[in-house]
Amino acid sequence: MEVTAIKAGIVIDHIAAGKGLLIFNKLNLAALGYPVVLLMNVSSQRMGKKDIIKIENFTAVDTAMLGLIDPNLTVNVIENCGVARKVCVTTPAIVKGLFACKNPRCVANADPDVSPTFHLHDEKTRSYVCEYCEELTRVN
Ligand SMILES: [Zn+2]
Repeated sequence: MEVTAIKAGIVIDHIAAGKGLLIFNKLNLAALGYPVVLLMNVSSQRMGKKDIIKIENFTAVDTAMLGLIDPNLTVNVIENCGVARKVCVTTPAIVKGLFACKNPRCVANADPDVSPTFHLHDEKTRSYVCEYCEELTRVN
């Protein structure tokens, strides 16, 4: 499959197959107003299959959200038709407002003025501790 290379923007590569659509939805890329390409199940020597997202003329992606969804993906910033730099994505240490606490009685769920905040508990299991109720939440 041939897909036009972009002159400027961002390429999110090596996304675990199946997570491209999740990123597309979580980052609300449809509403961005820039040309966006979502490629799914692309052959990859390293991964077997992977997803790729290309966004033209836009680079301000939420890298915390990307790291939360898939810490192994790579972010390439494209300028003048080439890769200008790579942005490292890791499992974020602190997560604010990206997901809800699973404790139904947590103040972060009850009070709309409180932004749910989590601290990384264990990078291997990708579990987070709620700042307000200390409930443990695992992401994917
Ligand atoms: Zn909580």
